[in-house]
Amino acid sequence: MNEQLKHDLENMESLLEKVKIQGLDFLNQISERPTTSKEVVMPSTNLNDIGIGGLSALKLFNDTFEQIIVGSTGPRYLGFVTGGSTPASIVGDWLTTIYDQNTQATKGQGDISAILEFETIKLVLDLFHLPNDFVGGFVTGATMSNFTCLGVARQWYGKNFEMDFAKNGVSKKINIFSAVPHSSAIKSLSMLGIGSTNFEKIKTEAGNRESIDISDLENKIAALKGEPFILITSGGTVNTVDYDDFNAIAKLKEKYNFWWHIDGAFGAFAVCSPKYKHLMQGWENADSITIDCHKWLNVPYENALFLVKEKHKILQTETFQNSNAPYLGNPLENFSYLNFLPENSRRLRALPVWFSLVAYGKKGYQYIVENSVEMANILGQFIENSEEFELLAPVRLNNVCFTLSKEENQSKVTDFLTQLNNTQKVFMTPTIYNNKKGIRASFVNWRTTKKDIDIITNEMMKIISNS
Ligand SMILES: *Cc1c(COP(=O)(O)O)cnc(C)c1O
Repeated sequence: MNEQLKHDLENMESLLEKVKIQGLDFLNQISERPTTSKEVVMPSTNLNDIGIGGLSALKLFNDTFEQIIVGSTGPRYLGFVTGGSTPASIVGDWLTTIYDQNTQATKGQGDISAILEFETIKLVLDLFHLPNDFVGGFVTGATMSNFTCLGVARQWYGKNFEMDFAKNGVSKKINIFSAVPHSSAIKSLSMLGIGSTNFEKIKTEAGNRESIDISDLENKIAALKGEPFILITSGGTVNTVDYDDFNAIAKLKEKYNFWWHIDGAFGAFAVCSPKYKHLMQGWENADSITIDCHKWLNVPYENALFLVKEKHKILQTETFQNSNAPYLGNPLENFSYLNFLPENSRRLRALPVWFSLVAYGKKGYQYIVENSVEMANILGQFIENSEEFELLAPVRLNNVCFTLSKEENQSKVTDFLTQLNNTQKVFMTPTIYNNKKGIRASFVNWRTTKKDIDIITNEMMKIISNS
């Protein structure tokens, strides 16, 4: 065996012990860890010929990069929609790395880890009070989940005209409607060969809403004169966490022939709380659903899942079958994930989710959701009470979308956000809402407490009083 490999094999215990201690140090101080890094690392030297071994690699990493790793898994990182990692999810993720399974088939020789994936999907359906007529699988993020779901929708659309788009390409215009789709759904249309501009915008409801105006949707459906369509809906939108009216859409499904997709990347977790579950009412009637796990489920990146109605299983297999490999068998007879989603080889991504759901249960996730919403409301209340800031939209759930008060301060929003993020104590992201420059703070991390909101509002006021 190669010298360096042999040495590391013999010293595995001390190597992993060092990483454990380093990891604990990081997590124990996550609250103090800067949320942005001001340093830029210069590209390092060439690849070493004989290698330096694991221990020296760790030292080199620590000397070069460790200090600039930001606390994005900590309680005051409110940029994008960024979850943390629960302790049990870290256990599951570590074991995923150690077992290093390739999750594909459920029976036959070799790997059986897909059974764990099935089991985890069942737990997720239970958490969400969804019926068992969905099948699901794990992908890297909600972008890939949207891609997977819309890929099956594309195949469904073709079948209406006895066309097989998966086999022969997209040779017909596809009718697609959406009001405020997430950028990743649009990106998926591009990746699917449909084209990112080939969808029609539905009006939003009046009164500072981002939800579908159902009567406008019905008008657009009427104009199709009976042609099928794909409807991309939101639960909730990323700026203001607005939800489409799923009960109304479920009713439309009784009258019209369409594929109903819900992007519930983070907003679907509203169902974990009795207080907010009405927002998702009727969603069990959708054909496909996108759920992110590295957001509100608080497991490490990269983790998301798709749910597609079981009755569409053949469409899904037609879309993703790895059909030119005869040794993999008939995809319709022997279920394997490699015929069911974009990836072929895949890590056991279900395991961190399995661990976290089993460890914290329905009550644990109810707590995480309700706590996040409470934190958003405290920040929202501070903004409403202040002279200096104003909300761009009501705090509907866990996101706060706000800006500096007064029209003349619009030019200062970018600078204010830069200063705020430069404090390294909090991180928020810029947005534009109703043609106004704004700032967005999204609460999905299980660690955030009222103390964190105090730190954040203090820093906000310091910047105001120094300007
Ligand atoms: C974050 C998000 C996505 C994309 O998710 P990734 O995990 O970044 O791929 C899609 N839809 C919504 C509503 C989101 O919030």
